[in-house]
Amino acid sequence: MTIPFDGQRLVDRARSHGVRVGALCRMLVAVPSLSGHEGKIAEVVAHEMNRNLFDRVRIDALGNVIGTVGCGRTKRLIDGHMDTVGVGDEAAWQHHPFKGKLEDGRVWGRGACDQKGGLASMIIAGRLIKELGLDSGITVWFVASCQEEDCDGLALRHVLEHERLVPDYAVITEPTGLAVHRGQRGRVELSVVTKGRSCHASTPERGENAVYSMMPIVREIEALNGRLGTDPFLGPGSVAVTRIECRTPSNNALPDECTIVLDRRLTAGETGASAIAQLESLPSFRASRATVAPLTFDAPSWKGLPLRQEKEFPSWVLPEDHRLTRAGVETARLVLGAPPRIDRWVASTNGVATMGRHQIPTIGFGPSDIALAHTPEERVAVDEMVKAAAFYAALGPVLTAMDRVLEFLEKGEAPD
Ligand SMILES: [Zn+2]
Repeated sequence: MTIPFDGQRLVDRARSHGVRVGALCRMLVAVPSLSGHEGKIAEVVAHEMNRNLFDRVRIDALGNVIGTVGCGRTKRLIDGHMDTVGVGDEAAWQHHPFKGKLEDGRVWGRGACDQKGGLASMIIAGRLIKELGLDSGITVWFVASCQEEDCDGLALRHVLEHERLVPDYAVITEPTGLAVHRGQRGRVELSVVTKGRSCHASTPERGENAVYSMMPIVREIEALNGRLGTDPFLGPGSVAVTRIECRTPSNNALPDECTIVLDRRLTAGETGASAIAQLESLPSFRASRATVAPLTFDAPSWKGLPLRQEKEFPSWVLPEDHRLTRAGVETARLVLGAPPRIDRWVASTNGVATMGRHQIPTIGFGPSDIALAHTPEERVAVDEMVKAAAFYAALGPVLTAMDRVLEFLEKGEAPD
């Protein structure tokens, strides 16, 4: 396949922006952006997109920043989330979480890995596309999205379903260590409730203790984790009890209700409904007459838009021989100078919206190692951000070239 541009020139140009991408990442790390509080960073991102030659930049009704490059018929979406988790124990941080310290070619701080490095790369990719004229026939929507940490996919569902920006394919810029990712397990958050009958705790035999009714269920769920279905690429599903609480009139009365929360990871072929049916078939579940339901996310965005959805996030896998996977591998080979690793995410991403719910072919590619996400050692190498920027800029033309070759093979018409 002939790539319709000079790959080496693109990589060299991306390298020439090394200082720029490093400074941009430091600036983004220096703006705290907890989920639901992305207003300030959204302004910074919009400003930087404008400064880096984007054709149009706007903030949508939810609060996502949407920067557009090109105006061609083929629509592509590249997503990176702006929000981060909290800091936790500040004493555990070697470098201040919001200083954006640059040391040994790496930017340190909260969000450096997850995923302000990817965001900085996206913005420089927009610049590269404009500088090298790589937007022929293509529109690229660069989405800097909100609230991914609290409710993955929510902000991109808004982009797809309400802003009506529906691309032919999507790229998620979460950290992959510059591997091409083509899937992830899904997940659902479930609450299980047992009911009891309260009475004075001095005579427990007169009542029914809701906590005791829950105990065999907890043990069966622990055992269930070891025998869940598996998938050769995504691995097995999993289940864990992550919260337990009860309602009781007082410390000297029996609880009349007990609730546990489950984090249930879904492998290929599993859904929230199948996970619920599996729980309902447990002997202890039936004996205790327990009930199970998905939890609901319900919180406003930083712009005040009320958001509500069930906390169910579908798994997704893009086949290895899909043209987007192949284009991703070719593009990565071009920018890395070697064949990339092909892998999957263990954690969840906004791909649950694009591919999981809307079947829009999706791959992932991003700087830094996902194992550093949410830790006090978060960091991202400038060199990896440069390569990711080159990847995002080159993927469109590589895919276009691949389409032309496929068209040629199907119709016998020579590609121009
Ligand atoms: Zn992330």
